Amino acid sequence: MAIKKKTNKKVLKSAKKPALKVAAKKSALNKKVVAKKITKKAPAKISKSAPKPDVSIISSLIELIKNTSAVLPDDVQKVILEALEREEKNTTAEYAMNIIKANIELAKKKSQPLCQDTGTVLFYISHPVGFDQIKFTSLIHKAVVKSTELGYLRQNSVDSLTGENSGMNVGPGHPSIHYHQHNKKLVEIRLMLKGGGCENVGAQYSLPHTPLDAGRDLDGVRKVILDAVFRAQGRGCGPGVLGICIGADRGAGYIESKEQLLRRLDDTNSVPELAILEKEIVETSNKLGIGPMGFGGKTTLLGCKIGVLNRLPASFFVSISYMCWAYRRQGIELGEKNQIKKWLY
Ligand code: SF4
Repeated sequence: MAIKKKTNKKVLKSAKKPALKVAAKKSALNKKVVAKKITKKAPAKISKSAPKPDVSIISSLIELIKNTSAVLPDDVQKVILEALEREEKNTTAEYAMNIIKANIELAKKKSQPLCQDTGTVLFYISHPVGFDQIKFTSLIHKAVVKSTELGYLRQNSVDSLTGENSGMNVGPGHPSIHYHQHNKKLVEIRLMLKGGGCENVGAQYSLPHTPLDAGRDLDGVRKVILDAVFRAQGRGCGPGVLGICIGADRGAGYIESKEQLLRRLDDTNSVPELAILEKEIVETSNKLGIGPMGFGGKTTLLGCKIGVLNRLPASFFVSISYMCWAYRRQGIELGEKNQIKKWLY
């Protein structure tokens, strides 16, 4: 996502200069610049032409949910087919990849969920200033309830203490909705359905990690990511895709690691060191011999996406979210009448 790329660039720039020098250079200008910025910056304008959340949005949201549940985005389908080609013929790995391929085709043809576990429902909304989040949240809830009634989503959300299932997929914390305000007039809605099996093999490491001899540097990051892949051993319905966050606190780290999964599989990280690391993690993981579903073979990972957030000097977390082969994410841009103007993947 564009916002994340900017963050990555910032980190790279600051990483090139020693922190103390940067601080000293800035200190002379500090007060003037800050004052200028505060007085000069015009308040963000409330967009009048942006879509307004009303009931007309529900049908677009239901279409988004139905499509996300049944159709894998093109970039994901492409890497799955490439992986199938790579596997040796007449092996269990090839058999597993063929079943995955058949599943994808059948779900698309019948417009039915790709997997019986339609997972945690995660919405990411980028919207202009003045967008009514409270109203939009209630409309999302309505769309999720309707989609569950229609069978696009499994009745999948239970009370954590009693285990009670309302059968509606709506309750505290579910669906998981993340709002981002931007300076554009448009509203973009991205949706990810993340299964429980792959969520269970996510991991978070605190560096330095003595048992793995992993220090607070990119080599340490590489070691803990590969450890997580090795420990998963194909559980969580591999081959999978990793979303990673370096830094932040524990909570923000996991949120960012999931947002990395919103990136296209064929994009390139704007931070050169991370672009190299992403590639290296996939290549090394695919030499571990774990393979699809842990059956052995050449495809353990389909992709790896890494983001960076600032951290406290005292902490260095690496947060890892694992996504299964059923990598269901889609996105839409809304038109002025809340219709689907454009698909984003
Ligand atoms: S981990 Fe993914 S593929 Fe496996 S059961 Fe869950 S949603 Fe389905």
